[in-house]
Amino acid sequence: MNEFKVIRNAHIYAPEDAGIQDVLICNDKMIDIRPNLVFSYDHEEIDASGKYLIPGFIDQHVHIIGGGGENGFSSLIREIQMTDCIQYGVTTVIGLLGTDAHVKSIEQLVAKTKALREQGMSAYCLTGSYAIPTTTLTGSIGKDIAFIDEIIGVKVAISDHRSSAPLKQELARMATECRTAGLLANKPGVVHMHTGKGKDGYKKILEIVEETDIPITQFRPTHVANQYEDALAFASKGGYIDFTADEKTPSLLKKTLEIVPLKQITLSSDANGSFPIWDENLNIIGMGVGKMETLYASIRSLILEEHVDISTAISIITKNVADALLLKQKGSIEKGKDADIVLLDTDLNVTDVFALGKQVVKEKAIVAKNYYQY
Ligand SMILES: [Zn+2]
Repeated sequence: MNEFKVIRNAHIYAPEDAGIQDVLICNDKMIDIRPNLVFSYDHEEIDASGKYLIPGFIDQHVHIIGGGGENGFSSLIREIQMTDCIQYGVTTVIGLLGTDAHVKSIEQLVAKTKALREQGMSAYCLTGSYAIPTTTLTGSIGKDIAFIDEIIGVKVAISDHRSSAPLKQELARMATECRTAGLLANKPGVVHMHTGKGKDGYKKILEIVEETDIPITQFRPTHVANQYEDALAFASKGGYIDFTADEKTPSLLKKTLEIVPLKQITLSSDANGSFPIWDENLNIIGMGVGKMETLYASIRSLILEEHVDISTAISIITKNVADALLLKQKGSIEKGKDADIVLLDTDLNVTDVFALGKQVVKEKAIVAKNYYQY
């Protein structure tokens, strides 16, 4: 049986300002958006007067089975739960491995991605981890992308003492394999690159783009604050750059918005990944953990403290990510798209969240449950 909901009188940022309208949801889709919507079938009414209605957030760098391990086995980080995501408005995640490939596998990662989907979220993942040779599910990066529904690209680390010091040729070959498999499967086939603070910067990637025919959009550097000048050079050639949310992010995003076209800028949380602290000789002296709440918190302060307009700010974690990852059903409030919706109060706090049409957060209370929750 079809389930209908009407969310009324919210001020919609789609991300563009669409004014006050009503949204009609049928099952997992938005099927009509208009002012004073009349609907006579049996449905649930949700009054969102005085609230903002924006797309659910897409977090493209999440250690869904937990990352870490740089400070012994006890420093491995726990898995994420669906409720850890939805309570901060994140309705779509891209899971990945990190430095933890010795103890965690692509099988575990794909299984967790399937689990999050079963629970009502949207989830995808990347094959690979930090190293080349790449850890995969089928034995080949291309086959993983072509045949495993959940896998949309590969992860690799560059410019980092924890990377496998990949050669230029290896990175170029990885990108072509991802590209052809992605074309076959209608997926982005991205090479998502952890970029550390290493001496090498983006040198190899910029050279590959210069010397080969591989489009720059095949390479997706993240943690770009680690190599900010190189990231700007990369963006000036049309590349996407992904920031990692922390307390410095709002001011850095504000500055970047003045230099780089908006559609090339995205933000992710690195939730449940490790933030190791190193001394000058790269000995570990401390360990932090990435948190998903930083994603929207950074965007909220971009609006409230850096005075960036709502539409621009939310694009960074909604439309831009959906467009960059070819997630055609995601990223905007539009008729026919998935009903992933966040409601905000006048202070821009998340009050309600809908994931694929189901209300999972109601008046700031989580109403969805994880499988094991006592
Ligand atoms: Zn990470």
